[in-house]
Amino acid sequence: MHFTDVALGAAPTKEIAWPSPMTTHNKQQLLSLVIPVYNEEDVIPALLPQLVQALQDVDIEHEIIVVDDGSSDGTWKLLCDAAHRRSDISLLRLSRNFGKEAAIMAGLRECTGDAAIVLDADLQHPPRMLVEMTEQWLQGDVDIIHAVKSDDHNAPTMDRVTSHWFGRLFRRMTGYEIRGATDYKLLDRRVIDVLNELQDYNLFFRGTTLWLGFRHRNIYFELGNRRGGQSKWTPMSRLRLGITAITSFTALPLHLMTVVGLISFLFAIVMGVHTLYNKISGVAVEGFTTVILLLLIFGSLITLSLGVIGAYLSKIHDEVRDRPRYLIAEEVLRDREQAD
Ligand code: UDP
Ligand code: MG
Repeated sequence: MHFTDVALGAAPTKEIAWPSPMTTHNKQQLLSLVIPVYNEEDVIPALLPQLVQALQDVDIEHEIIVVDDGSSDGTWKLLCDAAHRRSDISLLRLSRNFGKEAAIMAGLRECTGDAAIVLDADLQHPPRMLVEMTEQWLQGDVDIIHAVKSDDHNAPTMDRVTSHWFGRLFRRMTGYEIRGATDYKLLDRRVIDVLNELQDYNLFFRGTTLWLGFRHRNIYFELGNRRGGQSKWTPMSRLRLGITAITSFTALPLHLMTVVGLISFLFAIVMGVHTLYNKISGVAVEGFTTVILLLLIFGSLITLSLGVIGAYLSKIHDEVRDRPRYLIAEEVLRDREQAD
């Protein structure tokens, strides 16, 4: 076709009715559940039956992959008992506590499903939503389903406030909205494959799955109560995840340091001219207080800048060492031949 054909022909319709490229799903497809667990002996006995119950309402084959992120309580034993009884459960045991993101990535690498749903073990992510997520995916027009908290009044106040403000800061800096975002997500196989290709040592799962794009949508849920045990996050581990999130998504803090440096420079020029003028005109400068204040202000700014540079440097260090994100100490894999 020549361009003139288009120019002279009838006005193109607004929507092009291409044949649907959508994948067709059927009962032969496999859904993987990926669950990171760390010292969850109090919730495992409630979790597994609820998952199995929810999966009965999903018209698809499934496997459950539980990744023990270096638990020191009876979690692994409980999991082994469960895997012994059920052929749909596979287990990975990391060699130590590598953190939730690493545990999720270990599970995603191991899973063989046409789609995977990642969810927490403590039943704060309601298993009944598995049905809705899977049904939506089976329609074939979505690759990622993000389960978003519509209400998090069950979370501790401090966590709510910090995650709200961090979410605002993150959106300002990166353009990605993570307020309400959770790690409860359905990922199509092609998304899982792309994620597995990523080499990032420091990965912020919640943000990276947004960054990936693909055909995605949100579904909303009310965050449940933790079924037992305690949150595994300490203020320190939250701070670490926050630093990982920002450093892996934007270099803006580094650029801000340059801006602060420029402003300080302008301030220094004004102060310098003023001081010289006073000296030349013979007016004694009120020196001591000014010097102390300037030392404190610029000392803090320089230390702060070094801290920001240090944060990026340590992340770069993590990446160039090229160490594996996690190490697997033990695995109990379902008999795929038998199960298929
Ligand atoms: N988790 C993990 N490794 C960790 C910390 C947590 O695998 O180092 C798991 C934990 O067992 C749970 C999920 O990540 O299944 C969410 O953790 P938690 O409920 O403590 O987080 P919160 O809901 O308080 O954000
Ligand atoms: Mg929780």
